[in-house]
Amino acid sequence: MSHKPRVRFAPSPTGSLHLGGARTAIYNWAFARSCGGSFILRIDDTDPERSTPENIAQIMRALAWLGLDWDEGPSFQTERAGIYTAALKTLSERGWAYRCFCSPAELAARRDAARGRGGFSGYDRSCRALTEEEAQARADAGEPFAWRLKVPDDRGPVVFEDAVRGRTEFPLDAIDDFVLVRSDGTPTYNFASIVDDADMAITHVIRGDDHLSNTPKQILVLEGLRAPVPTFAHLSMIWGPDGKKLSKRHGSTGVEEYAGQGYLPEALLNYLALLGWSLDGETTLIDAETLKSRFSLDRISKNPAIFDFAKLTWMNGVYLREMPVERFTQLMAERLQQAGLADEADFEVRRAWYLKLAPLVSERIKLMTEIVPLVRFLFVESVEPDETAQTKVLGKDPDLVRRALRAALEALENVLEAEWDTAHIEAALADLPAKVDAKPRLAYQPLRVAVAGSVVSPPLNESMELLGRARTLARIRALS
Ligand code: GLU
Repeated sequence: MSHKPRVRFAPSPTGSLHLGGARTAIYNWAFARSCGGSFILRIDDTDPERSTPENIAQIMRALAWLGLDWDEGPSFQTERAGIYTAALKTLSERGWAYRCFCSPAELAARRDAARGRGGFSGYDRSCRALTEEEAQARADAGEPFAWRLKVPDDRGPVVFEDAVRGRTEFPLDAIDDFVLVRSDGTPTYNFASIVDDADMAITHVIRGDDHLSNTPKQILVLEGLRAPVPTFAHLSMIWGPDGKKLSKRHGSTGVEEYAGQGYLPEALLNYLALLGWSLDGETTLIDAETLKSRFSLDRISKNPAIFDFAKLTWMNGVYLREMPVERFTQLMAERLQQAGLADEADFEVRRAWYLKLAPLVSERIKLMTEIVPLVRFLFVESVEPDETAQTKVLGKDPDLVRRALRAALEALENVLEAEWDTAHIEAALADLPAKVDAKPRLAYQPLRVAVAGSVVSPPLNESMELLGRARTLARIRALS
């Protein structure tokens, strides 16, 4: 028997993988990796109406995109019915489960009445009083029934040591005789999940603290099964900037939406990892390798974490700037190809050109979606000045624009094709402000608009080098 930790991520495929789920997955994965344990992917698909193959595929895609690999699974609860049936049999044989014939309507009426009295709103345990023979006779007669857990009377509170929250205690009278198996034969989450955890020999259950109140119920099931109780680690919720539970109101919450918006998986991984966990309280940039070796449960914070969209975007920019130039070049080329502006062959032939462009771009953006708009002018035959360029530059001082463009044209025509590089271009244009008697910014701005069609672009001289002599001169001529 191995004593290595075994953890699982168990999403319900009722929607896409959202940020909170992704963080739970990251913590489980990082914990398993940090101690040589196993990370298991389990799909909790017991809700047939809301579980879809598309959601399952999407969750797996998003996990893979984040770089999370699993050692076992995915296993599906819908394929494990026999395990729950066997567990139920064990519980009922040991007197830990009983049949309940109360109809949904009866249950609702009694619950409302109890609530009205301000009492316990759980099941009133009326079917507990049935003898085994009575219950069997009613079942044989075809009456529908569910199975409930018989919460023991002779036990103290359920206490466990949560790895994040410390000692946690639930008095027994707060625990409902909850349904284990519904009248249609399907297991409930609280039953199936912990039966699976026992069957899969899960040692640590790391999950959101919305499941805290389920924990005593699940511990009682384990007791009935005489199975060991894993260590629980309940993660505090993620809040939006307004202190309310993170939701779509605050911004995108789906992992794949971030992929589509130009975020890098390593940036989102880093950001989510630090949302409630810290390496040393200071380090803000943590890569997967560090997480895999240094993650620990004892540095998970008890406090809710606030999702800071701007910080994530900042972090993404840092990752873009700091990634090896070859990789950025590759990403940039892919984006350009997707946009139909260049093809694979162009990238092969002009690799050196792309490598020169890459750092000029990576320094200026925070999201990969900014790449194409920033460099489009280099991949098209001609450009039209955009609206800002029209109003802020061309329309503002047409006389200066004309003089600046003509002077620039004259200077650049003297730079030979063979010498067409940033240094020569810069030298040729050095006295442009003096020639047109304007501040440098105002003297060069028309040139930028002519070349890039916009007031924002990579540095001007470098842009002209990359655009090439012929196209640069043609664009200046067209506007002057
Ligand atoms: N399927 C449950 C969920 O997505 C799993 C909770 C757990 O980890 O026990 O919330």
